[in-house]
Amino acid sequence: MKKQQLTIALSKGRILEETLPLLEAANIVPAENIFKSRKLIFDTNHENIKLVVIRATDVPTYVEYGGADMGIAGKDVLMEHGGEGLYEPLDLNISRCKLMVAGLKDAPAVEGRMRIATKFVNVARQYFAQQGKQVDIVKLYGAMELAPIMGLADRIVDIVDTGNTLRANGLEPMDFIADISSRLVVGQAAMKMKHRQIQPILDMMSAAVDKQREA
Ligand code: AMP
Repeated sequence: MKKQQLTIALSKGRILEETLPLLEAANIVPAENIFKSRKLIFDTNHENIKLVVIRATDVPTYVEYGGADMGIAGKDVLMEHGGEGLYEPLDLNISRCKLMVAGLKDAPAVEGRMRIATKFVNVARQYFAQQGKQVDIVKLYGAMELAPIMGLADRIVDIVDTGNTLRANGLEPMDFIADISSRLVVGQAAMKMKHRQIQPILDMMSAAVDKQREA
């Protein structure tokens, strides 16, 4: 029986470098250097497997609607998306960081409604609702650290790795929201229709993650 086409959506940017070795462990290798190309779709060493390299925030959308069968994206992006139409069978344990609330160093507690600047509006809304706190959320697309400095917001919700970016801008982490790492996601339709092709890839990547964990 002829193998069905399989498309895997990869998040471009910092996750990509750590993703490729895991794909290679599952014997999926792009036919050319992704970093040196402006292409969006890449052939691989398998005639029936293609990679698309897109914005991290678009990965769950592609996989949800079947534009790609599988994808790799950060848990931050998946939490913000909400996870509809997706299975999340594997934590790849790469690109680890934390989602945090941060504010200006030594900033006093805010009386009344806090204003929160973030690109993770859904995550932030849910988090503060769980805390029983009334907040107004301001959506930004980048450089969240600037918002408290300029008086645009009292706090930010952002990704923190070393904390250097916060410190360099006079901010400090305040509250922990979630541990983040990259996850392999599979579309619910693809998991049904292409299970025989997807399962061995999952198994090989899972073994590679275990091996990296032990190293
Ligand atoms: P750091 O200065 O090490 O705390 O890094 C903070 C900035 O790097 C954040 O504002 C994020 O935009 C970005 N960043 C760090 N780790 C990740 C990650 N795993 N995934 C996506 N962005 C990240």
